Amino acid sequence: LVSRKKKAEDTIVDLKGEEIGNGSQKIIAGPCSVESYEQVYEVASAMKEQGIRLLRGGAFKPRTSPYDFQGLGLEGLEILRRVADELDMVVISEVMTPGEIAEASEYVDVIQIGARNMQNFDLLKEVGAVDKPVLLKRGLSATIDEFIKAAEYILAKGNENVMLCERGIRTFEKATRNTLDISAIPVLKQETHLPVLADVTHSTGRRDLLLPAAKAALAIGADAVMAEVHPDPAVALSDSAQQMDIPQFHDFLQSLRDSGLYKL
Ligand code: PEP
Ligand code: MN
Repeated sequence: LVSRKKKAEDTIVDLKGEEIGNGSQKIIAGPCSVESYEQVYEVASAMKEQGIRLLRGGAFKPRTSPYDFQGLGLEGLEILRRVADELDMVVISEVMTPGEIAEASEYVDVIQIGARNMQNFDLLKEVGAVDKPVLLKRGLSATIDEFIKAAEYILAKGNENVMLCERGIRTFEKATRNTLDISAIPVLKQETHLPVLADVTHSTGRRDLLLPAAKAALAIGADAVMAEVHPDPAVALSDSAQQMDIPQFHDFLQSLRDSGLYKL
């Protein structure tokens, strides 16, 4: 179902008026973790100033260590919804278990399936049966073929509003947190009709590489770039090394516009 051979034309996923996959390139931004109303509001207003409505934020966080901040859960989703309603934005947030989907659906506009759950087949089947767009991230060690088959699980249950997100894979290279598989973007565009996104934050894990990685992703055909923004990354409860602060975010967008690769 995801194959170009089945459907030649691009799938456009409509996120409350923001079309992903229609040829115009979008930015998705927001903090790694939702920490407070004020924190989300500050980032969201900076985005709004730039005409960006796609607000991401983690409430249910898949953390490597059980002793790290696990996210605000439902309270985090309430904060995202409140800010998004006030500023007319679109909420994207991760769910980690099938049991969270119904409740999360009352708050989020897009369900994110994180890298660590790309092959959580029960979760894929459940999001396949809901009436919400899904942002599916590539697994840490998943091949492109496994990634495509994970998306197939969702479409097979009837949900065609799926976006694929390259977020870096694990390789021997240690200079970056993961290796952004840049060629996965055109491969996925050729093999499937689904929109393809690039997460420059989790792939590089380095603030100084966000801009070149975003340029590369847009140049090679990504439909959207995802990046994390925090009012004060130094005190962020997760991913403090790679989130941009707000002035850096404005500079990032300005440089992308100057490059001619981002036009909105
Ligand atoms: C995220 O986007 O918040 C996240 C945890 O990313 P990933 O699943 O790609 O690690
Ligand atoms: Mn993060």
